[in-house]
Amino acid sequence: MKLLLVLLAVLFGVWLWRSRRLAERPQTPRRPAELQNMVTCRVCGVHLPSTEAVRTAHGAYCGEGHRKQAEK
Ligand SMILES: [Zn+2]
Repeated sequence: MKLLLVLLAVLFGVWLWRSRRLAERPQTPRRPAELQNMVTCRVCGVHLPSTEAVRTAHGAYCGEGHRKQAEK
């Protein structure tokens, strides 16, 4: 009976550890957003997050206007 209680305690501990790991998972994609890469516009040199930049094979731009300007 004592062994069963120990086994239950271990199983509960494993379940707790796994559920905590699962709870941490949604936070993982948030972290790169906070520490996101900054890119520099190739036309005006402004720094902006890479997610907001217009990115092409040639580089990053602050907006559609500067992308067009650079491709002229
Ligand atoms: Zn620009």
